[in-house]
Order: sequence, then C-alpha cells, then structure tokens
Amino acid sequence: MDCLFCKIVSGDIPCEKVYENAEVMAFRDLNPQAPHHILIIPKQHLSTLNDFGAEHVATFGAMGLAAKEIAQSLEVDEQGYRVVLNCNADGGQTVFHTHMHFMAGRAFSWPPG
Ligand code: AMP
Ligand code: ZN
Repeated sequence: MDCLFCKIVSGDIPCEKVYENAEVMAFRDLNPQAPHHILIIPKQHLSTLNDFGAEHVATFGAMGLAAKEIAQSLEVDEQGYRVVLNCNADGGQTVFHTHMHFMAGRAFSWPPG
C-alpha cells in the first residue's frame, strides 16, 4: 500500500518521533501550525475515522491517551492544547491514514476556519 504514514511507521520515511507504544506513534508535523504541532497516528492503517469499528476502541483510546501524555511531557497540559482529527474532504483531510493533530504553544480561536 502506498501510504505516507505507513512508511513513517515502517521507518522507510524519516520523522521526528516524539512518542511511541504498541498501538500508536507520534511525530512532528512537517508544516507546523503552532509551536508544537504533532501528529498522533495508529500504527495500523485506517484511512479515515470512518474505518474505525468496535475493535478499534482501544486504538482510538491509545491515541487520546498519547495526546495527554505528550502534553504532560511538553509541560503544556495546564496552559492547554488542541486536538483535531480531520475526516474526508469537508474535514480538510489530505493524508488518508487517520491522524490526530496535537497543537500547543499558542492560544487557538474558535470556531476553526
Ligand atoms: P490533514 O490535512 O489533516 O490530512 O493533515 C496532514 C498533515 O500531515 C499536514 O499537517 C501535513 O503538514 C502533514 N505531513 C505531510 N507529510 C508529512 C511528513 N512526511 N511528516 C510529517 N508531517 C507530514
Ligand atoms: Zn497508512
């Protein structure tokens, strides 16, 4: 399968890794939109959130827990951070291997554009 993020998981494409466990890995976004912009991905290829089922609840939970642990390790947990998951065209998804954007280090506005 020709998937950019699967190639990052396998090590065929380099990344700046910040977190990894059996279920997920996280690495810095190439085009950061905040002082800290990290992508949290499942190691398993799941194209969009629409592909998650009951059997992926633990994987999705691991992604959420990774966000919390990354926030703690960067010491931004108290000041705050944003987690975003874009799905398909209207969501603005461009890489079709599900990923959570973890962003921190500045204040974010709402609603998003
Ligand atoms: P999305 O638009 O939600 O699909 O987000 C895709 C994200 O992947 C964008 O923020 C890109 O900057 C980021 N990105 C694309 N290629 C790479 C890469 N090789 N390493 C790290 N981040 C990447
Ligand atoms: Zn993939």
